[in-house]
Amino acid sequence: MIRIGIAGAAGRMGRVLIEAVASHPEARLGAALERPGAAAIGADAGVLAGLAPVGVAVADDLATVAEDFDVLVDFTAPAGTLDHARACAARGKAMVIGTTGFAAGQRAELDALTAGIPRCMASNFSTGVNLCFRLLEIAARIIGEDSDIEIYEAHHRHKVDAPSGTALSMGEVVAAALGRDLRQVAVHGREGQTGARSRTEIGFSSVRAGDIVGDHTVLFAADGERVEITHKASSRMAFARGAVRAAVWLAGRPPGHYDMQDVLGLRG
Ligand code: NAD
Repeated sequence: MIRIGIAGAAGRMGRVLIEAVASHPEARLGAALERPGAAAIGADAGVLAGLAPVGVAVADDLATVAEDFDVLVDFTAPAGTLDHARACAARGKAMVIGTTGFAAGQRAELDALTAGIPRCMASNFSTGVNLCFRLLEIAARIIGEDSDIEIYEAHHRHKVDAPSGTALSMGEVVAAALGRDLRQVAVHGREGQTGARSRTEIGFSSVRAGDIVGDHTVLFAADGERVEITHKASSRMAFARGAVRAAVWLAGRPPGHYDMQDVLGLRG
């Protein structure tokens, strides 16, 4: 049995992760963490997730529960994930990281902190999205040069970063397949006198509305035909199940930076 710690246990993802761990045959909940001062501190993690009590109280300091888990699954916020990475690196604990929205400097710091531990990080842990990454690579190679490429995504009103980490990952996959540098070719939103579109740019647009769990479309628009690759998540369980699968896969691996393509054996 792999003992899982969940950081951000009271969050939208955290609660679903608790449920996903409870239903995984090779995992059990070892620890649950929230930020100091959170209302959930001290609550039973099972009850927090709407399940029967599991005997794991939500803690506010990783040091106090470090002996209770093998892999920390972190879906919090960039500052929290950096704190947890520091604590896990000091103790040689593996991490699954789902948090998005890191600034470039924070991302570099995270990569350095986790260099010596097993880490699986993905902007999207769903199997379907990771399959889409492979489909996008193929589409970009075959029709990318002849197409205008646009990426649009929609998420619930509470999401704090845009475009989504998944949309950016999709852009990176497409740009890499076409030998382009996404930082040079990305165009975020358009307004006013934008001028004509260049063939090499990759456009991003975001909708924030209601309770949309996560929709992504990559459009390849050539002259006379269009291809759209779309993924729609209808439940956070799609991400949670993938993250728990990644945690079980990661336990006991050598230190290194892995992603969901590794977990699913999709690395081409
Ligand atoms: P949320 O705001 O509902 O939950 C985040 C939780 O983390 C909150 O309960 C908050 O109190 C807690 N937290 C914040 N800082 C903390 C800290 N320092 N220590 C401990 N706990 C802390 O957000 P959410 O919708 O659950 O999303 C969380 C993150 O996961 C976001 O970055 C989101 O973009 C990302 N996400 C990733 C995937 C994926 O598949 N990779 C899927 C969904 C969401």
